[in-house]
Amino acid sequence: MTDAKARYVARQLAREEAESGYLPSPPSSEEDTLWRGLTRGGELRILVARATRSVREIASNLHANGETGRLLAELVVGGLLVRSTLDPDAQIQLTVRNPGAAGSLYLDVWASARGFRASVQHPDARERPDAPLFVGGEFDLVRSRGGAPHRSAKVLVGETLPEAFMAHLLESDQVRAILQVDVRFDADRVLHACGFLVQLTPEGGRADIERMLQNLERMGPLSDAMTKSDPDGRGFGDQLLTGYRWDQSAREEVEFVCRCSRERLVAILRSLPDDEVQDMVAQGEPIETTCEFCRTRYEIPPEELQTPAE
Ligand SMILES: [Zn+2]
Repeated sequence: MTDAKARYVARQLAREEAESGYLPSPPSSEEDTLWRGLTRGGELRILVARATRSVREIASNLHANGETGRLLAELVVGGLLVRSTLDPDAQIQLTVRNPGAAGSLYLDVWASARGFRASVQHPDARERPDAPLFVGGEFDLVRSRGGAPHRSAKVLVGETLPEAFMAHLLESDQVRAILQVDVRFDADRVLHACGFLVQLTPEGGRADIERMLQNLERMGPLSDAMTKSDPDGRGFGDQLLTGYRWDQSAREEVEFVCRCSRERLVAILRSLPDDEVQDMVAQGEPIETTCEFCRTRYEIPPEELQTPAE
């Protein structure tokens, strides 16, 4: 190859790289994933998450019906997107004290690992005209990474869960974002649980949000865009960010993981006040308990609670 030709090929390659902006090797559409992207001018950040498999597992563990399963999907997808927006490496513990029929919602996402777990207080609740499943409530979000945990608690009333997440982002962290969760069911079985968040950065302005919302009006649902041939839903990103050059910048796998264990439970029981432990031992009955996240049943014989004599 002549020098001129080599330079031409190198230039073409560099150009193609600059135009594509996609991360290679997306996981299959069966896997749960979360990716982030950014417009080249830095105005808008986009995050897209799919958690179908995890939500299906969580809903099945909890015997959730289609209605509380939908709420769990909104909690998981919304919570993962919010965590990744605030700090992708932080551990978060979210409690939503919802006075609605579904009761409180819980979400734990572990630090710098892909695992998370979620639960709802009344997985068998059904929506009734006089008793909605979700009415808002107190959002108590604890975020930590290494140092002291950062806690924010806000009371948010009469919103859907994704709307409440957006309000929480704005009120607690001055983050302006659009968050939508797309959940599809076939009877009580979860078919799709995915969602996206677009954040306006300090580099962006009102015109950027308006342009993105105009793009969004012409678009179909995200679950239709995350296909076998485009599992990341890059086409969705392209449409949403029509008018911008943008790049996918990071991707992680996410999955339902419960960190409960027999050892941990015994340690917790042993750490109770001495008189309570002695009462349990004196009663002689095995201590039975079920994990509220994965529904694993544990049975601890009381003698195990006595710390062996030194
Ligand atoms: Zn568990």
